[in-house]
Amino acid sequence: MKRQRPVSLVVHGGAWNIPDDEADAHRRGVLNALKAGWDLLRDGGTAVEAVERSINVMENDETFNAGRGSVLNAAGEIELDASIMEGKGLRAGGVAAVQNIANPISVARVIMEKSDIVLLVGLGATRFAKEHGIATCGQDALITGREISRWREAQASGTATPVSRKKAPGRSAPGGTVGAVALDADGTIASGTSTGGTPNKHQGRVGDSSLIGCGTYADNEIGGVSSTGGGEAIIRVVMAKSVIDMMRSNGDDPEQAAKDAIALLKKRTGGEGGVIVLNASGGVGTAFNTPRMARAFITSSIKGPIAAV
Ligand code: ASP
Repeated sequence: MKRQRPVSLVVHGGAWNIPDDEADAHRRGVLNALKAGWDLLRDGGTAVEAVERSINVMENDETFNAGRGSVLNAAGEIELDASIMEGKGLRAGGVAAVQNIANPISVARVIMEKSDIVLLVGLGATRFAKEHGIATCGQDALITGREISRWREAQASGTATPVSRKKAPGRSAPGGTVGAVALDADGTIASGTSTGGTPNKHQGRVGDSSLIGCGTYADNEIGGVSSTGGGEAIIRVVMAKSVIDMMRSNGDDPEQAAKDAIALLKKRTGGEGGVIVLNASGGVGTAFNTPRMARAFITSSIKGPIAAV
């Protein structure tokens, strides 16, 4: 019998202090996303398709801080960051501080596949989406009542200040960034990340999730990574690429690389967050130093999905 090439998929729905009464929704949300991506991968879909599909499911789920349900910036608006990368040709695409888009990961994918650009910001990103037939929407289609209340509270308590450069944002602030990493039957790894960013962020603030090497990285020779947590800290340790470099030198151990990267984040910046990792043969690693991280994975060598919050 011909041996099947391994396939794997791992997703996250953010690393933060997820309240007990929201844990079930997070578990369901990451499992739904995993199933949608896995159905594609199992039927021979590509890693890029699976990553986009899984992330779309979480962008459309108000539980998470991505797409509809994202946190508001200090001006009371939604500005979204997302990026995607495929590890065969090291192709990548991202959007930053984009408005009026429900599924920014899909815009990032079109940037990667249909242009020579890697990163588009703001109005230019929205315009690119329209030029490529991606529907835009009003802010009201993305803003939820939960986020309006959180924003009002933040404004009233005077925390509507730009993120301090000295201290990484505390993870008790609502998180819920989403990400996925897939290995397909052709041996291609893709990674993606999508977020509304940090609550009450300064208008125009861009976090790690748009940035290749920080929020997202994929290289078929080594593996793939998606990060979540305090973006300013993650950027400063170039987290996703740091995990890849650690795997390159530790004999391809994704779990150890994930742990070492989180330790580096803490040691050098005091930051908090989490990562999901695949190595080139589909081995899974996850690590976080927040109270919780919503996550789920499945591989061709295990019977069913594993989820935890
Ligand atoms: N990393 C995201 C950002 O800083 C936030 C998060 O993951 O919770 O924009």
